Amino acid sequence: MAPNELYQYSTLNALMEDVYHDGIPVSAVSKSGNHGLGTFKDMDGEMVIIDSTVYQMQAGGTIAEADPNTPVPFVQTTNFSPTITKEVPSISKDGLTAALDELAPKAKNHFISVRMDGVFDTVTARTVAKKTPEQKGRSLAENQVVKTWHGVKGTLIGFRSPEFSQGLSVAGSHIHLISEDRKMGGHVLDFQAHNIKLQIAVIKNMHLELPENDEFAAAKLVQTDEDIKAVEG
Ligand SMILES: [Zn+2]
Repeated sequence: MAPNELYQYSTLNALMEDVYHDGIPVSAVSKSGNHGLGTFKDMDGEMVIIDSTVYQMQAGGTIAEADPNTPVPFVQTTNFSPTITKEVPSISKDGLTAALDELAPKAKNHFISVRMDGVFDTVTARTVAKKTPEQKGRSLAENQVVKTWHGVKGTLIGFRSPEFSQGLSVAGSHIHLISEDRKMGGHVLDFQAHNIKLQIAVIKNMHLELPENDEFAAAKLVQTDEDIKAVEG
């Protein structure tokens, strides 16, 4: 993939319809980009791709480099080459949208790749727990571990997706945390930080690869905004 193009495998609403038993291997994800996020077969934790390394962050607290053979049912990656870098004195999750609007005022209808490095005063993140066969996607809220940390040195990695992409992606900011010591991380629900290095790139090309399996073929892919917000926060 050329720099600052989005690669995506499957769709967010497919994941919500339990299309997570199969996917492309981690080895293919590694080749698709150096920056990104996703999940693993059976929703076994959160994925973050930082500087070309794919990490699996499991609900039990284990964080490790992902096995190259593990199937990935949903992922978004890019070959991140930041075009705008700014030292931000103070930023929160809610303030991120305003900061992106200011830095990239013509990108409301584009995807934006986002990276923030620094010390996070507080950060709350969740990690999904591996699904049993009886569980459905919408029980995700009951099947996750949420933790809040203070003074975490680390990196937030993710994307802001345009409103029109809700369902295909998660409209708005979707970011994952990994600490510098690789001991903490997850899907970010909230954060507050100061003196952060914010790097972004506007994305105007995407490559969407759709699963070729029976689950995806049978899935009914219509969710409301509320359905997705309830799951993805
Ligand atoms: Zn996430």
